Amino acid sequence: GKGIAVFTSGGDSQGMNAAVRAVVRMGIYLGCKVYFIKEGYQGMVDGGDNIVEANWSSVSCIIHKGGTIIGSARCLAFKEKEGRKKAAYHLIEKGITNLVVIGGDGSLTGADLFRQEWSDLLDALLADGKITKDQREKNKTLSIAGLVGSIDNDFCGTDMTIGTDSALHRIIEATDAIVSTAYSHQRTFIMEVMGRHCGYLALVAALTSEADYVFIPEDPVPVDWPDKLCKKLMQERSAGQRLNIIIIAEGAIDREGRPITAEDVKKVVVDNLNQDTRITVLGHVQRGGNPSAFDRVLGSRMGAEAVMALMEAEEHTEPCVISLDGNQAVRLPLMECVKQTKAVAQAMAVKDWDKAVSLRGKS
Ligand code: ADP
Repeated sequence: GKGIAVFTSGGDSQGMNAAVRAVVRMGIYLGCKVYFIKEGYQGMVDGGDNIVEANWSSVSCIIHKGGTIIGSARCLAFKEKEGRKKAAYHLIEKGITNLVVIGGDGSLTGADLFRQEWSDLLDALLADGKITKDQREKNKTLSIAGLVGSIDNDFCGTDMTIGTDSALHRIIEATDAIVSTAYSHQRTFIMEVMGRHCGYLALVAALTSEADYVFIPEDPVPVDWPDKLCKKLMQERSAGQRLNIIIIAEGAIDREGRPITAEDVKKVVVDNLNQDTRITVLGHVQRGGNPSAFDRVLGSRMGAEAVMALMEAEEHTEPCVISLDGNQAVRLPLMECVKQTKAVAQAMAVKDWDKAVSLRGKS
């Protein structure tokens, strides 16, 4: 059978374990040898004990765990050709020519580059005498399937990334808790949630917590936001509301592109309205905890589909990313989705918010 390896890279997210489990079990079911690569690209570059064969039971009891049991890392060495050459050697040693990469757009970009360079890397290893001609021939095609693990839901091409739903569960638990205490003391709370380029978590958090105001990067507030915010908060209080909730994404900005922090918002509220105002920064709590049912199912479906894609891949099949479209698992060209995701960031960098939002849509 084919040699398949699965690894998780970049920021972790809940549901990655479900995906790892599905890759291992689907692979074994179809007669493949499946390997874990621990610590992302770093494990691939270092080789040795980082690349181990998985069996059916090595993925028992992980579907309910957050994070990733095989570790994740950021790896500078893989950004250099020398590092990728070492990584290629360690894969060939084990007869691995199929990769399932679970990560964000950086990790997927790295995988695509690796695949483009594969022939060159093999030639270099052959020239160094590290591999034989026979090994070069047997391993000449590297096939890649990507899965997007990210709590931010910041990837073009898929309706939901693995981890977003669980992060929203964490956020809802926190906002609900805050609302009850805010109610008792008639306070105003500013809740900061993750999302540097993507306001999805903030927007859904605002909708589901009945927030009064939300700051997201894709729809920057006008520069006179302090007036508008204060007016809105006052209006709610005079209508009898005992509290105010404001949700702010990490990457919040105004229409001039200037960052807005939770502290900025607090100062506006305190200086103008003299309300008892507190900030809660949810931080890494959002990445942690058990994956939701949705993320377990999403990870499982995406992992199984990734193995199917690798089974069907031929010499010239381009790397794909497994995405959710409606309720369907679909395969999309990996690099096109990455490019579109980067184009969104680009459009935001030049303050073309409309373009960013329209590009974000579906690819
Ligand atoms: P994410 O996958 O969550 O976007 P990063 O952008 O940090 O996270 O990428 C994770 C890892 O993927 C990096 O540490 C690096 O090893 C690899 N990587 C990212 N971009 C590239 C690239 N352009 N070329 C090669 N490797 C890359």
